Amino acid sequence: MKTFKRDGTIYLDHHATTPMDPRVLKAMLPYFVHRFGNTASFTHSFGREAQETVDLARSQIARLIQAQAQDIVFTSGATESNNLALKGVAQAYRSKGDHFISSRIEHKSVLDPLKRLSQNGFRVTLVPVGRDGIVDPSDVKKAITPKTILISIMAANNETGAIQPIADIARIAKKRGVLFHSDGAQAVGKIPIDVRKMGIDLLSFTAHKIYGPKGVGALYVRKKEPRVNLVPMLDGGGHETGLRSGTLNVPGIVGFAKACEICRKTMKVENRKIAALRDQFKEKLFQAIPGGVIHGQWRKRLPNNLNLSFLDVDAGDLMRALPALAFSSGSACTSTSLEPSYVLKAMGVPKAQRRSSLRFGFGRFNTQRDVERAGTLLIRAVKNLRGVV
Ligand SMILES: *Cc1c(COP(=O)(O)O)cnc(C)c1O
Repeated sequence: MKTFKRDGTIYLDHHATTPMDPRVLKAMLPYFVHRFGNTASFTHSFGREAQETVDLARSQIARLIQAQAQDIVFTSGATESNNLALKGVAQAYRSKGDHFISSRIEHKSVLDPLKRLSQNGFRVTLVPVGRDGIVDPSDVKKAITPKTILISIMAANNETGAIQPIADIARIAKKRGVLFHSDGAQAVGKIPIDVRKMGIDLLSFTAHKIYGPKGVGALYVRKKEPRVNLVPMLDGGGHETGLRSGTLNVPGIVGFAKACEICRKTMKVENRKIAALRDQFKEKLFQAIPGGVIHGQWRKRLPNNLNLSFLDVDAGDLMRALPALAFSSGSACTSTSLEPSYVLKAMGVPKAQRRSSLRFGFGRFNTQRDVERAGTLLIRAVKNLRGVV
């Protein structure tokens, strides 16, 4: 299969986005051209075909997270799903309470809507994380008040890959009659997520993090035990049982479903392969250069994540020295600025070390050769910057 190398640049930034799998593209193509129907056109075959296609896609996507098809609401991605979950609950449960609980390490698409809500009279508690980058469920428990309406804790962190104890937190939420939302953008398709067993009421996820197209995602919304009510963000036409109006992105949804099917079937084997590449890369670096520190706990992280610092080596300098490698500094991906990571800060990583932090995300199309070469280039660049040649 193609490896998507461009000018020989090696892509090691799969937490930011992933290349689209060629099988996904192939599944999507007919829906741009002759299968172009609108699902709302139930009076003719073009529309009915589109509806049947979306029905099948919805059940395939639901299956990846053990949900019912009718509990999936299509959106434009995880940012929209997070906004719909948080603001939708805020408006629907206002009479019940005004308090949200989340964590300091959430993605901006959770933190910024919460900030907006707090400007509009809601109260928000952000629980801390330990040095391991993991939320302690007992901190969440302590933060619950009679006015708490939603707890939102991500399933896995986009910088450190730290997997959060969401099943434990969901159990606590349920006991106290509080809804539980999780931002699953990094976790769904990478690690097993079962909304029933884990007791998740709302789950955000997105196609472009799992080798699907950009601009399509979903919000899982539990329909019973308990039924979750949301006030929609978009009105007009009543699509998605009124929760998200707008003509459905049929090609995107078909691609999303194909991406989910591939992940469901290959996750286990693929994880082993990707983790082996990552481990090989890490070993090579640590054998060649001293002063490397891993951020977070090694075991409880996504199989594709490596987040580390080489002390005294500025991440920005290192990235400029390595145009042939696509990776990220540990700094938050606030697209416009390189502010040292608030996630690492929340973990107590000192400022100087945060400035050195690097995030590598390995993926489906990376090869052993990629990783060998990337390691060699990185080692040379670190030595150069340290003046040790
Ligand atoms: C990528 C990402 C998002 C945003 O998803 P989009 O589909 O790009 O809007 C949200 N949360 C996490 C944890 C992410 O990694």
